[in-house]
Amino acid sequence: MIEIRYIGPLACPFLLCATCGLAITDSSTALARWPEGATRGVDFIHKGRCDDGRDCNTDELDAFLSYLVANTTAGGQAGRVAKGEIALP
Ligand SMILES: [Zn+2]
Repeated sequence: MIEIRYIGPLACPFLLCATCGLAITDSSTALARWPEGATRGVDFIHKGRCDDGRDCNTDELDAFLSYLVANTTAGGQAGRVAKGEIALP
């Protein structure tokens, strides 16, 4: 889940862990996960302590966020395509 926290006049977006509810402040310690075969329902969890071992697809959060940025800029021609992992339809 994405939450906006107001720090003074600034609206700051944070990702919250789906298990513990705390903000994820270090992407290298977290995962994006979604149900096997699903195209929606992505959530974010801390690795280890908050991973209940559910049978889901996962990506390292830092990689997932870089794909997300790439796929929402430059016409979506970067992301995983640039890494040769998938082709755009
Ligand atoms: Zn957590």
